[in-house]
Amino acid sequence: MTMNRREIMSAAALTVAASSLPLGLSMGEARADNHAMAGGKPAGVFKYQIGDIECIALNDGVANFPLPDGFVKNAPIEDVQAALARALMDPATMSIPFTAMVVKAGDKTTLIDTGNGPGAGETRGKLFSNLEAAGIDPASIDTVVISHFHGDHIGGLIDDMNAKAFPNAELVIPEGEAAFWLDDGNMSSAPEGMKPSFEKARTNIGAYKDATRQINDGDEAVPGITAVGAFGHTPGHLAFRIASGDKQMLVLSDTTNHPALFVRHPDWHVRFDMDPDKAAETRKRMLDMAAEDDMLVAGYHFPFPATGHIVKDGDGYQLALAAWQPQL
Ligand SMILES: [Zn+2]
Repeated sequence: MTMNRREIMSAAALTVAASSLPLGLSMGEARADNHAMAGGKPAGVFKYQIGDIECIALNDGVANFPLPDGFVKNAPIEDVQAALARALMDPATMSIPFTAMVVKAGDKTTLIDTGNGPGAGETRGKLFSNLEAAGIDPASIDTVVISHFHGDHIGGLIDDMNAKAFPNAELVIPEGEAAFWLDDGNMSSAPEGMKPSFEKARTNIGAYKDATRQINDGDEAVPGITAVGAFGHTPGHLAFRIASGDKQMLVLSDTTNHPALFVRHPDWHVRFDMDPDKAAETRKRMLDMAAEDDMLVAGYHFPFPATGHIVKDGDGYQLALAAWQPQL
């Protein structure tokens, strides 16, 4: 695959934009011990600070599949392939990474989203080996906060025996997700293809029914983490603001899927967005806020370490990703 002149120019422009950014995440703040191993392989673990709060990005793996027609509902496949090529990705393959996050604030440990969980395939469900590589016992997680009820976010709530994977955690869930996915009427009127998602929500969320709290836009999930309504991807989808002193970060959750497509083209509708117009409106609002305020952001489907800055670029945006290198 070769780059044409315009693509080379634009890659150069991004490099300049990224290097001239007043990055909230300086090298001094990134942790020196970002080289843990998991099962003999470099682990997907990246630690950094937001003021007094420690954040730990934990990769859950990747889903690879041939790019289907209609992956972006409102753009021709040729344009999607060109956008992938521009990001030096294979234009015939969609690769969607998953990265959850542990937040240590005060003496409390919180996990935001849980990955795909057991049985989701060879290349997924790596959260648990990466937790181990990071020295975090699942039993030490005090709170699990969920952004929305899609399987790649709630799959890791339970183990392969359907028992709690985080036995001592309180589960904090979006009000709008509970209202939609746990409603019997919605489940019975859903198309056949969506029924497994309803069932998974019941099983996985239900496992924590003795320790569940619901939150919505503006509510505190735990001290230091506040919910931000980011509806559209799913009915109750939440983003989160993490703040300590004058430092803050926006956890975008699934406000955008892969940045090469949906940060670059925020108007594009990924097939997973349940209300595509609302999702695009939310995406533009959040990306605009992140770019304007030069906020550090995390994105669940960003390439690892899934954190960086958003830079305005023409009609869209670019992601200036934090640098990370596994120790080889
Ligand atoms: Zn997702």
